[in-house]
Amino acid sequence: MNRKKSNTRFVFVTGGVLSGIGKGVTTASIAKLFQFRGYNIRIMKIDPYLNVDPGTLNPIEHGEVFVTDKTWIFEPVEGFRFPICEIDLDFGTYERFTGMNVHPSQNITSGQIYISVILEERKGTYLGRTVQIIPHIIDRIKERIWQVVDEQEPDILLVEIGGTVGDIEAMPFLEAVRQLVREVGRQRSAFVHVTLVPYIASVGEFKTKPTQHSVHTLQGLGLQPDFIICRAERPLPESAVEKIALFCNVPEDRVVSNPDIQIIYRLPLAFEEQGLGTTLTKHLDMQSRNPDIAPWEKMLEPFDAAYETVAIAMPGKYTLLSDSYKSISEALMHAAISNSVNLNIKWIETQEHCEENDLRKELQHVDGVLLTPGFGSRGAEGMICAAAITLETDLPFLGICFGAQLGTVAFARNVMKWKGAHTTEVEPDSLYPVVDLMDEQKIKSDKGGTMRLGGHQVEIVENTKLYSLYGSVQTRERFRHRYHLIDRYISKMKNEGLIVSAYDSERRIINAIEYTKHPYWIGVQFHPEFRSRPDAPHPIYLGLIRAALEYKRQRGN
Ligand code: GLN
Repeated sequence: MNRKKSNTRFVFVTGGVLSGIGKGVTTASIAKLFQFRGYNIRIMKIDPYLNVDPGTLNPIEHGEVFVTDKTWIFEPVEGFRFPICEIDLDFGTYERFTGMNVHPSQNITSGQIYISVILEERKGTYLGRTVQIIPHIIDRIKERIWQVVDEQEPDILLVEIGGTVGDIEAMPFLEAVRQLVREVGRQRSAFVHVTLVPYIASVGEFKTKPTQHSVHTLQGLGLQPDFIICRAERPLPESAVEKIALFCNVPEDRVVSNPDIQIIYRLPLAFEEQGLGTTLTKHLDMQSRNPDIAPWEKMLEPFDAAYETVAIAMPGKYTLLSDSYKSISEALMHAAISNSVNLNIKWIETQEHCEENDLRKELQHVDGVLLTPGFGSRGAEGMICAAAITLETDLPFLGICFGAQLGTVAFARNVMKWKGAHTTEVEPDSLYPVVDLMDEQKIKSDKGGTMRLGGHQVEIVENTKLYSLYGSVQTRERFRHRYHLIDRYISKMKNEGLIVSAYDSERRIINAIEYTKHPYWIGVQFHPEFRSRPDAPHPIYLGLIRAALEYKRQRGN
């Protein structure tokens, strides 16, 4: 494709002052403004860290790892292949807002850029030349952006730049963007800067100085923001808007408030009310179209009508940072909204709370339990104990991946009376290894190669609860696991009521189980939360919220 002829517009989103001010949600909301107008969009994100992908990152450090349906084979040079489908959690937000599945190549990391330049150097590509950040790293970044434009030809490509302006690591990316804007022309690109405007209660004032400083840093790099999105407790007063406009060199109608809201899905509407969709399309010299916001508004209606609350406990080990389970809490929220109920998530740190009596107390006033995904032994005993409690009560239970595995361990120990049953991930010498590696995996020594990742076909067994939820015998879900439920043990559990409700397409891998003597007790090896959307909640999560509501009503408080 001739890049000069490409008609794609670019929106670059940077962040100032602090990290964690909702740049991802802002980017996704801006994308939504274009979708309201029928434009075809794509979103990319640049993460400045040196990991090739976030697959190996601890969720406490960086939040959940998002898993895409498709796998991308990243091949920096011939002979080096890295399959990638684990990407930054912001892509979960993009998928949920836009309803589109992202491709893993839309997530650029510094690691990917540097490794490809260095491997090229080893191959001799740059023979004779000094390999440098400018131009080699910068050119590679631009190439990666163009690749998405060439392959997908969107009307608008939004590019979120991770980190905060001023970070050393993000410099090459900002320079790449500066060059890109020069090449495509300013009328085809918009620069959006997301910043924090703190409210200082003692003086009763919104403080604009941090925003001014971060914009000055951007200007020093040759970048002038066209729009400033201000995260603040409340909509900014006129005086603060005027000040930011004056000192940051933007028109007042391009200083937009991003106030605290009850539910993030309302942000595109808050932007729309402030005219951001119109000013953005005008700025990008695009046809102005009337936004169709009615379906999105309608989706949010049941949220306002909610009068009841269900409490779902989430026992796990990454509970310190709610972003560790981002897609799960969002999927619960989607299911709650569509049932017109409020959601209260009760995090239970299971390293701290691992005693039976303590956990019984913790679970006393909840209406359902979602046993979380995870890796390793820390907190596992507490999770198993929580699952065991659900087995002897009617408390609805949904185990996701590790949660399903540990739910099975609880069943083996408490219902089958197999003392010492475990997953070999935690207890390699267990007497009853109900969760284990499959035989062919045991031959491989390389851990990385044995992980089952990305989207796979799921075959659902008829006449099961799972079948009644999906209403079909086939579906496709996303996976991220290494260990498996082992059939020679699971098949023995059938007499006590635990059945397999889904397999893989070859009927070799157990994908889901359920306890038939319980109103709602399901374990799934996959991650349904990655597919849940606010306007299309996932049936398994819908089922959990409905069962929780039922349980609460029967309990009568
Ligand atoms: N640790 C488990 C496995 O590797 C589960 C992983 C997960 O919960 N995503 O199979």
